[in-house]
Amino acid sequence: MRTPLMAGNWKLNLTIDEAVGLATALAGQTAGLTDREVMIAPVFTALAPVGKALEGRGIYLGAQDVYWESSGAWTGEVSAPLLKDAGCSHVIVGHSERRQHFGETDEDVNRKARAAIKAGLLPVICVGETLEEREAGRERDVVHRMVKSALEGVSPEDASSVILAYEPVWAIGTGKTASPDQADEIHGYIRGLLSGSFGDIVADRIRILYGGSVKPDNVDELMGKPHIDGALVGGASLEVDSFSRIVRFEKG
Ligand code: PEP
Repeated sequence: MRTPLMAGNWKLNLTIDEAVGLATALAGQTAGLTDREVMIAPVFTALAPVGKALEGRGIYLGAQDVYWESSGAWTGEVSAPLLKDAGCSHVIVGHSERRQHFGETDEDVNRKARAAIKAGLLPVICVGETLEEREAGRERDVVHRMVKSALEGVSPEDASSVILAYEPVWAIGTGKTASPDQADEIHGYIRGLLSGSFGDIVADRIRILYGGSVKPDNVDELMGKPHIDGALVGGASLEVDSFSRIVRFEKG
């Protein structure tokens, strides 16, 4: 059985004090849940203080990006060992905003995922098609390319702890959600790809999150689908009541 993971991507929001406040309030409202995991990804500057505030409180800390080199003359970058040092257990890799606005390529995503694994971080690898690609009926081709290239050179043993997030770009921050059936269909397709690469046992262990305008009023139905193993939540993770309701989903 795959333990659901409910992850909040706080993007470029919140000061250190605000992030610590939200993380602490969230820990209070989600305490005692043992059948699901919670992860939050604040900005880099808030990672260490939020990590300290969350010590022993059952919420995992994630970063929003990572660089593939460990150290050296790479001005402005943050490496996987340094994210571990700041208290992270997870890191989001290949978010569509990074692919779109910062020119991140499939090869970059693969390097970042492998650097994360090497440092003992769990990468949350984002894949998903644009509206244009979906309208052209190319969503499976795009997802196929992104999943295969992100996991190139990853052993089956390492692959079993990787987390994937299917995030159709047209559903991120737009208020449009893929219908639960649309999302589950692509999740099932991804699991088939993973079976082909790593075998059924590993593919059955890999969690595939859905991301794209997940809200308190649609989470239950999404989480009721067999291949949806959690959510990656942007906007609705910035407010304690809405994110804690999402974390407290009940399968619909
Ligand atoms: C995201 O940023 O990964 C995301 C899914 O955002 P939102 O929930 O706001 O659509």
